[in-house]
Amino acid sequence: MALVIDQVTKRYQDFTAVNQLSFTIEKGEIFGLIGQNGAGKTTTFRMILDLQGATEGDISWNGETMHKVNRDVLGYLPEERGIFPSMTVEDQLYFFGVLRGWAKKDLKSEIDYWIQRFDLEDKRKAKAETLSKGNQQKVQLIASFIHKPEFLILDEPFSGLDPVNRQLLMNAILYLKERGTTILFSSHQMDNVEELCDHLCVLKRGVSLFTGSLLELKGQYGKIKLSIRTSLDKSQLFALPGVESVKETKDGFTLLLEDESYGKQLFEILGKGNYMEKFSMDYLSLDEIFKDLVGGEHD
Ligand code: ATP
Repeated sequence: MALVIDQVTKRYQDFTAVNQLSFTIEKGEIFGLIGQNGAGKTTTFRMILDLQGATEGDISWNGETMHKVNRDVLGYLPEERGIFPSMTVEDQLYFFGVLRGWAKKDLKSEIDYWIQRFDLEDKRKAKAETLSKGNQQKVQLIASFIHKPEFLILDEPFSGLDPVNRQLLMNAILYLKERGTTILFSSHQMDNVEELCDHLCVLKRGVSLFTGSLLELKGQYGKIKLSIRTSLDKSQLFALPGVESVKETKDGFTLLLEDESYGKQLFEILGKGNYMEKFSMDYLSLDEIFKDLVGGEHD
């Protein structure tokens, strides 16, 4: 285990922002921390990076307590975005690389690579302040890992990026993982979390509601989402056994079942004398599970 968070609590006076949080991250994996605004994600990141102390509990990286860990093995994209406005993109990246112990000459190929990969070639010599918000964010992102950290924390890396840039970032994160980087990130975009994460932790008001793999989380709910196209109408579907809710979609209906086991029964009922063009049982999406977990209800 690379990162170990053991029974960590953070209190601000009588307010508990993070409560008895424990999870571990294996070397080279991508771990997602998800939760609503104010759930305690940034506080957790800041404690891991030793930017603020935990009230209780221990955090270690490769067995070493965080305040003893060499800063250069860590990378951090904070939630607050900030770059030097009058420095060029290229100078900015050299600056952060040198700050983290690299020789300028060794940085060139790395900087070239990322500028090209993030489609910033024509902005290379531009002052950061002249860049769009999304492009500024890409520069800050590159700056967070230009020194090849072993462990990279990205706080909301996808926010503010358009779909093309989000995809560029997803691919970049997967590439960093391939290169052996351990990555912890937060996001409100559940589709990104779903595609990237090996494991995840769902936080609600500082408390972990779930820690484990995506498949384990989905397995806890089972395949309770039934997509169908049938000649029956909404109220007829709602009257069927085990049906909790019915939603009309562009492509028929989506039913949520009390339990996966109703699937067989419904297949038999629906197939008898009724024309059924589509019948497909599936897991809930992470987005649906998240809303259920933290909000206590299905969409
Ligand atoms: P978001 O998704 O909005 O970024 P988050 O999950 O990152 O939220 P945190 O920023 O960790 O949430 O905040 C957790 C809670 O701790 C919030 O209720 C916040 O108001 C509180 N908090 C954070 N810093 C302080 C502080 N210095 N003093 C008092 N309360 C604080």
